Amino acid sequence: MNRVAIALGSNVGDRGSHLEFAIQRLHVVLSNIQVSSWHETAPVGVGPQPDFLNGAAVGVTTLSATALLATLQDIERDRGRERPYAGAPRTLDLDLILYGGEVVAEAGLRVPHPRFRERHFVLAPLAEVAGEWFDPVTGRTIADLLSALRA
Ligand code: ADP
Ligand code: MG
Repeated sequence: MNRVAIALGSNVGDRGSHLEFAIQRLHVVLSNIQVSSWHETAPVGVGPQPDFLNGAAVGVTTLSATALLATLQDIERDRGRERPYAGAPRTLDLDLILYGGEVVAEAGLRVPHPRFRERHFVLAPLAEVAGEWFDPVTGRTIADLLSALRA
């Protein structure tokens, strides 16, 4: 079993229902799920577009990191996710942030997610459910990374 952390985001359509749909589907592949509150956030680094609803979920899984990412992409697709261009508004975005203490650097999968330490919209909800988890790259906890970003 591996502990995993997933970031959720939506800024198209009924954002709350897209995120709830994702949580229902995550229950199929994750046990002991804990879900953060939803955070209303302004878009960062993607040009002018609607505000996001963001959240985080943690749980344990028997899936490999690669299989879990494929499952996340299936869930996105089933909620009508399209990728007309990088950073396009999205019904549902599911990013794999942490997979146990593992570091993965493959073409289609990097874990820990390479940009999560600079993203308040990831760290703030994640700190609600995984504040004490260690980032295997920096050795800092999620709570520490959030404090550092806010300082
Ligand atoms: P965004 O960076 O805006 O979330 P996408 O959701 O379209 O963009 O993801 C782009 C690509 O990032 C995916 O095709 C996926 O293979 C890759 N990727 C690499 N590492 C991860 C990860 N940890 N979580 C999610 N996607 C990842
Ligand atoms: Mg993504």
